This record gives sequence, structure tokens and C-alpha cells, in this order.
Amino acid sequence: MPKKYHIDIKEAPARFVPVGRSTILDWEGGCLRCFKCVKRLCIYDAYNKRDFDATRLADTIDSVCKNCLRCVQMCPGRVISKKENPEYKLLGDSYWTADIIVKQSEMAATGKIPVSGAGYRGPFTGPGFDSMWTDMSEIVRPTRDGIHGREYINTSVSLGRKRQNLSFDESGAPVIAPLCEHEIPVPMIFAAPPLNILSENVLKTFALAAENLGMLTEIPVKNWGDFLTPHLKSLVPVMGINDVDAWADLIAKVPMAGFVANEVVPDDFVEKFKARFPGTLLMVKIPADERAPRRVPAFAEEGTDVMCLVADVNGKGMGENSGKFISQITREVHGRMVDLGVRDSVTLLLQGGVALAEHVAKAVICGADAVMVDLPVLLALECTYCGRCNKGLACPVQLENVNPEWGKKRVGNFMAAWRNQIIEVLGAMGIREIRRLRGEVGRAMFFDDLERDTFGRLFGKKKAVPASEGANP
Ligand code: SF4
Ligand code: SF4
Repeated sequence: MPKKYHIDIKEAPARFVPVGRSTILDWEGGCLRCFKCVKRLCIYDAYNKRDFDATRLADTIDSVCKNCLRCVQMCPGRVISKKENPEYKLLGDSYWTADIIVKQSEMAATGKIPVSGAGYRGPFTGPGFDSMWTDMSEIVRPTRDGIHGREYINTSVSLGRKRQNLSFDESGAPVIAPLCEHEIPVPMIFAAPPLNILSENVLKTFALAAENLGMLTEIPVKNWGDFLTPHLKSLVPVMGINDVDAWADLIAKVPMAGFVANEVVPDDFVEKFKARFPGTLLMVKIPADERAPRRVPAFAEEGTDVMCLVADVNGKGMGENSGKFISQITREVHGRMVDLGVRDSVTLLLQGGVALAEHVAKAVICGADAVMVDLPVLLALECTYCGRCNKGLACPVQLENVNPEWGKKRVGNFMAAWRNQIIEVLGAMGIREIRRLRGEVGRAMFFDDLERDTFGRLFGKKKAVPASEGANP
């Protein structure tokens, strides 16, 4: 029985008033001054907690209100109404939606899984990970103690090469060569987000959070500073192929070092690295382009420990794969490695488009061992993905000055909520170890497959949806 992993939740309220989904319109005219006003019946006490945030010119009731509409429906004078908040609609973009941004911040504050309300009335399918559904056949047979009780579901994964075969010496004794491995308690590694906000405080937050959770976090060496030295055991410095000599002392002290293989990689790079740093895992990050199904197995055969397929922040592939989503590319790479018989010789990660906890489980089903999580870590720190930092403008939530101790709690809470959601998915599928989910495409349905094999035959070809309305990538 593996040791039970648990994340302690520590309340960490937001520093700024969150943007509410809708706004209350409360006209005094026509008010009947009822003895028992509906405003006193709000179970979230939204009216009593009401305030005005002068810094953001915002009515705080909009973020406390949970949109149950009780007050709107029950007011006999009909003086209360609700309207969509225009500020909310402007958050994020078509992939990183306002809902994702606001819920991520809520999870970071409380560590709780957000409740979405009465039933899902959205579209049948969507772009990216929304075009696949996981098998929930075991949800009708909950275990006696519940998946958060005695029935332990293991979310840990091991990074590094797996032993492929046994060898024996002349006397017949097994020869067991030591393997370089590193276990992480959740199938996630924090990654540097594509935003120009990686200040000392932000990086310190990433490092403290990873250390606190027993996880790893990527740090680009161009942002390296001495303030990171106390956290070396949780750090993955990432650099170019030609930077090994300059960072050799650091590489020797960390559990894993990452290299971006955009340029041509010397033939003996992997062999030389493994000989020089036997105790450090080698991760190679390659673009998720049309060459990936050929390059990943080739690196695996050379002895690379961990491969990471990198898509853009919305999960779209690169080069000729720009029309494909990272889940599809991962399926192709995983399948190719299985065909070549080299799948277990390397750990496969993906980066890009992981915005929700369910995306982690779906990425694993598509063949990844674990994922790199980038933007959600900043969303947990109240980033609203406005893009101002990339234009050299001031960050509206002053993220560069974030308190690392507060940030550590926020990131811990969001990981607790994500891990609990992953456990819910695994429990509903009747799977007790995330490692067993890898590549189990038979436990999911893919919209494109259904469309091709079933719906297309019955109802004809799917109409193209304009990109602005969320077409499948
Ligand atoms: S809509 Fe519901 S949660 Fe919001 S203020 Fe009215 S009663 Fe409270
Ligand atoms: S809130 Fe805007 S400016 Fe601040 S880090 Fe996020 S994207 Fe950048």
C-alpha cells in the first residue's frame, strides 16, 4: 500500500474583488418595504456583505452572489433583477474562458471543487479536450467508504526510464543497474507560463508551492537567481541545448534538467549528458509538430528519460500540426511508440491547453504519463489573462509583487481541488491508479470518431463552425 498523499487546504482569500458573472440591479423605486425582505433570505448573505471596491469601481455583491436567482424571483415588488456583467464577458479568450479564470481563483481561495449548478445545458461537444468524454460506467457503484475515504486512489507517477528487461551475470544472479527515477505525487509539473511576469516573487511562489506539495516546477535559466537555491530539490531548470557547460554545477544538483530542442541536437548529446550527470533526469522538450512522432521515439532510443511535447498555450500543435489539438498529437506519438516497442523506455509529458483538472485525466488517456501546467498556476494567483504584461503594461493585480507565502497556499489549494477532481474521474471509471489510465483510449469516446463512424453516416457531414464560435481545432 503506497503512502497516502494528502494536500492540506489553507484558506487564502483573494487580494482583489473577483469579477462576478452577473450583476445585481436593485432599484429602490417600487420597493414595498416588506417586513421580511428577500435580501435577508440570501443564504450567501450577499446583501449584508455588500460593499464598494473603490480601487476597481466594483460592487462586491457581484462576486459574493452565486446566481441562484432566489431574490429576483421572490421579490414581490419586482425591484431586483440580474444582468450579465460586461466586465466578466471581457475576461480571457475563447479558450481560457471567464468561467475557467474565475473558478480557478475560487479553487485557489478555498481548495473546494466549484459547483456548476443544476445540470449542464451547454453544447454537446467543443474544441480540444471538450471533444472527448471519459467512461463513467462505475459511477453507479460507489465504493463502501467513498473514494476520499479508506479506498485510496493513487495519483503518483514515476518520471524516468523503466526497466525493459532483466539481465544476469555468469553465476545467474540478476544484474540490476540503478535507474534514475523521480516520483511525483500528482501527474503534473508546474511550467513557466508564456507571460512576461516571472518576477522574483512569482518564481519564489512556484518554487515554494512545488516544494510544499512534493512536486517539481520548471524554471527558465534566464530567470535564475540565488533566491531559488534553497529549493533545488523541487526545481527543473530549462535551457537551450548549448547551455550545458554554463549551468553544469546547477544541473548536477537538481532532480531533472530540461532542454528545448528547437534547434538541431548533436548526435551524442543524450549519451554525453547521461555520462556526465548520472543522477539527473534528462528532459527534452520538442515542439508538437509533424516531426514529433519520429523525433520522440528517436530520443527515447538514445536514452532520454523524459520527453515533453509542447503545443501553444491553447493546446494547438506547431508547424503542419497547427490544425491539430495536443490530445490528438499525443495519441499519434504514443501509438507510434507502442508500435515501435519503445513506449515504456521514456516518460511522455505534454504541455499546452491544460486548463481544467479533467484535462489532466484526458491527456493521460491519450497517452501522456503526466502534464506540464502553466497558465492555471498564475490564474490561481489572480491573473486574469488580460495580456497587459506581454505588452509592457502594468499588471492590474500586481502579480509581480505577490507574497510567496500567500501564493504557496493558493497554489496548494488549487492543486488539492484539481487532485480531488482527478480522483473523482478515476473513481467513476473504477481505476485506482492514474498510471493504469495511460493510453486507455477504450475508456473514452472521441467526438471525431463518433462523427465519422456513427453520426456522419446517419445525419451526413458535420457543418463547419466558424472559429469565433469555437470550432474544433
Ligand atoms: S441571486 Fe441568490 S445568491 Fe445572489 S443575491 Fe440573490 S439570493 Fe443571494
Ligand atoms: S493579470 Fe494580465 S498583466 Fe497580470 S500577469 Fe495576468 S495577463 Fe499579465
